[in-house]
Amino acid sequence: MKIVILGSGVIGVTSAYILAERGHEVTVIERQSGSGMETSFANGGQLSYCHAEPWANPEVLPKIVKWLGRKDAPLVLHPGFDLAMWLWGLRFLRNCTKARARYHTINTLRLALYSREIMKYLRGKTGVDFAFRDAGILHIFKDDKNFESALLQAKMQQEFGASYKSMTYQECMELEPMLLSANDRIIGGIHFPLDESGDIFAFTRHLAKKCQTIGVVFKYDHAILGIDTVGDEVSGVLAGDGVFTADKYIVALGSYSSVFLNKLGVKTHIYPMKGYSVSIPVNVGKAPQVSITDQSQKLVYSRLGNILRVAGTAEFAKYDTSIDEFRTTSILRHAKNLFPEAGDFANVTKWACLRPSTPGGTPVLGRTKFKNLFLNTGHGTLGWTLAAGSARILADFIDDKPAEIDLTGLTLS
Ligand SMILES: Cc1cc2nc3c(=O)[nH]c(=O)nc-3n(C[C@H](O)[C@H](O)[C@H](O)COP(=O)(O)OP(=O)(O)OC[C@H]3O[C@@H](n4cnc5c(N)ncnc54)[C@H](O)[C@@H]3O)c2cc1C
Repeated sequence: MKIVILGSGVIGVTSAYILAERGHEVTVIERQSGSGMETSFANGGQLSYCHAEPWANPEVLPKIVKWLGRKDAPLVLHPGFDLAMWLWGLRFLRNCTKARARYHTINTLRLALYSREIMKYLRGKTGVDFAFRDAGILHIFKDDKNFESALLQAKMQQEFGASYKSMTYQECMELEPMLLSANDRIIGGIHFPLDESGDIFAFTRHLAKKCQTIGVVFKYDHAILGIDTVGDEVSGVLAGDGVFTADKYIVALGSYSSVFLNKLGVKTHIYPMKGYSVSIPVNVGKAPQVSITDQSQKLVYSRLGNILRVAGTAEFAKYDTSIDEFRTTSILRHAKNLFPEAGDFANVTKWACLRPSTPGGTPVLGRTKFKNLFLNTGHGTLGWTLAAGSARILADFIDDKPAEIDLTGLTLS
């Protein structure tokens, strides 16, 4: 079957690989000059299968109130009117109940653990090199209240297949001795042994190369201008100076998915949530090996070869991807506090991009009201973690096969 995939981030490329492997004739259309150059470029590097709690949860509300007006807060709202942002915000608030947070956690976790399996398959099959580590992820805590509530969440997730180990300060130091030099007071941690980490860009780039060896055609430097429809079918995709036609089409445009889907009346409620990262060249022997989540600052740390990637923060700034020096300086300050000797803090690379976020935090997979238009988008804070499983599920939709997991909460319906 002829398939056109719109977008060549981690989601588009993993979908292309699995579909081409099944014998489909796949073309990927991308506006950049290569794969993985937007949100799949320099993210936090965590394959955090067991970090399934959505941002929308009852405990985030008082925190948002506390953060309002603070420029260095983990979440920043830029003043200015954007109807789409306020509507998204209202939907987000509606999802901040205990019941909704639990519902989204369970659905995300099911997809995440499935993704772990498919990622293992992809690693074995393709041999792609992406600074992969399987030492788990250690969440560290600086106050009792957050630690206790995270333990409750971890315990709940255990019922659904995740696993965790609560750790004392001493055990955290044994697992990651570089934390001994932290200036912050750490009271304990939770280790999620099933979690992994790796460089999303290296993975996406290398997998795109593998895709080419099995026949996938990449049309880079092709900006998509529109999706044409006739009746209840897509008739073509207008990109560059041509029209691309296929039997089936997949939207994997990250934060820009809604720009095109809204015009077709397909409502996904995806809104861009900006985040930042800094990449610090490591001082070998002084930088952490285990991926860390600092729950108090909502920052993640991953060792990716000879750099330490620190990422986080959420900012609502429409589609603006410019780098606010204040935000990156604040990330660096926290990084220096936690790992003072980790690397060369004067020579870091800064980056900002947009998470394609849905109000409840779950992606949107599968069918639309158009018979031949499919979605693999809206992966928000967990696109790297969920990419492999989402791609396999999408391929099953394309082939009219039942998915291998329950898709409750993960489709438009
Ligand atoms: C700071 C930060 C830290 C993060 N950390 C983590 C993490 O640790 N773990 C994790 O699991 N996830 C993390 N994420 C989320 C993850 O990176 C994203 O969910 C994921 O990269 C989204 O992939 P995507 O393919 O959907 O989007 P993208 O990578 O953005 O791909 C979409 C593609 O569509 C193309 N495109 C858009 N519009 C057009 C057009 N008009 N014409 C042609 N092409 C177009 C873009 O150029 C892009 O290449 C993080 C995100 C950020 C911002």
